[in-house]
Amino acid sequence: MTQLIHRNLRVAPPTAVCAFGMYVRDGDGNTYLDASGGAAVSSLGHSHPDVLAAIGSQLKTTAYAHSAFFTTDAAEELAARLADGAPGDLNHVYLVSGGSEAIETALKLARQYFVEHGEPQRRMFIARRQSYHGNTLGALALGGNEWRRKPFEPLLMDVARVSPCYEYRERPASQDLQDYTAGLLVELEHKILDVGPQNVIGFCAEPVVGATLGAVTATPGYFQGVRALCDKYGILFIADEVMCGMGRTGTLYAIEQEGVVPDIVALGKGLAAGYQPVGAVLARSHIVERLRSGSGVFQHGHTYNAHPVAAAAALAVQKVIQRDALLAAVIERGVTLRRMLRDAFGMHPHVGDIRGRGLFVGLELVQDRDTKRPFDPDLKLHAAVKAKAMECGLMVYPMGGTVDGRRGDHILLAPPFIATDADLGQIVARLSDALARALEAIR
Ligand code: PLP
Repeated sequence: MTQLIHRNLRVAPPTAVCAFGMYVRDGDGNTYLDASGGAAVSSLGHSHPDVLAAIGSQLKTTAYAHSAFFTTDAAEELAARLADGAPGDLNHVYLVSGGSEAIETALKLARQYFVEHGEPQRRMFIARRQSYHGNTLGALALGGNEWRRKPFEPLLMDVARVSPCYEYRERPASQDLQDYTAGLLVELEHKILDVGPQNVIGFCAEPVVGATLGAVTATPGYFQGVRALCDKYGILFIADEVMCGMGRTGTLYAIEQEGVVPDIVALGKGLAAGYQPVGAVLARSHIVERLRSGSGVFQHGHTYNAHPVAAAAALAVQKVIQRDALLAAVIERGVTLRRMLRDAFGMHPHVGDIRGRGLFVGLELVQDRDTKRPFDPDLKLHAAVKAKAMECGLMVYPMGGTVDGRRGDHILLAPPFIATDADLGQIVARLSDALARALEAIR
């Protein structure tokens, strides 16, 4: 056994020795087509020369400067670019080292905003069931992912919970889309009233749900309704775009497509596309101005805040996305990928739903297409799909197995934005093979 601890303490993963473009190669010479960008991270593929050059040049000038002493051009330029591209007045940027740190930052910023307003009684967040917002204790508490939370439950802060917007599985056949959406908003309003609006800090949700549900978009009008309720009761709307943001859905920010402006947005993953560990929080003016005119200090900070090399990498990634018109490419290639998936799996007896936006695509696997009955979680179909896909030279990101049995296993695809039609065709062909092998394996 190696000394390095991996998530699976019994089986070490293969060693990645080289990664280029759409591919990752392991120490045994196997090559894997990266159809998930790791976990929706590698949006530019691997070893992009512009990003490597930007990292090299930043390393040679200023590899590190503690943010309590200095700022850097890379961090300032990145912040300006993120703010410029953001909807509304989301024009203040705080740079951290990953998605969970971004969520922790968002929670603390939101709480301090109310403390500075003389409302220290506000301590509750509202989030959705079957959600994932990260693995640090605050982020884990916010998320509604039961199996991840279970061992740590006594350590987690209390969070109020409402239903996810998950039309495929949760909308009764007898209910139309509008009524389903209206019902979710009534549920949220009741929850706010139950907790007491004066006690609520904010509501947090992913604009397009990634890891827990598999690229589930909201129904039309859902986020507009959320925004209206947050405004009505004076609570903050926090959009977790750690997975769905930074172009993954075809716009820089996924929430742009919902026509609302959140108060706070959390970013990670695609921000630096895996070239450096980076996360960010964007906040609207009224939030930062309250702190500025109050205590003058955001009571937060990490050693690697606004790390210059990380910022330079993220900046280079964002410049490539703009220069190469990759947002438009994401929309176009996403349409192609979903069409190819529908051709391959549209009649498949165990693929219940093919969904997503841009190059953020999910397939929900079901035992029975008509009843949508999921596979028994104990079969761990998602794990079999991942293993068989690796055998077929394909990286996908499957998840599954809630204890409440209210969702099926799903496969998340999030290929790099540079994927060609030929790459997409290969992804679908290899996935078809992997799924057949996985279903065979669990029989
Ligand atoms: N929020 C969402 C929506 C995520 O998908 C993730 C990670 O998968 C996180 C937060 C946590 O990000 P990280 O793993 O970088 O800490």
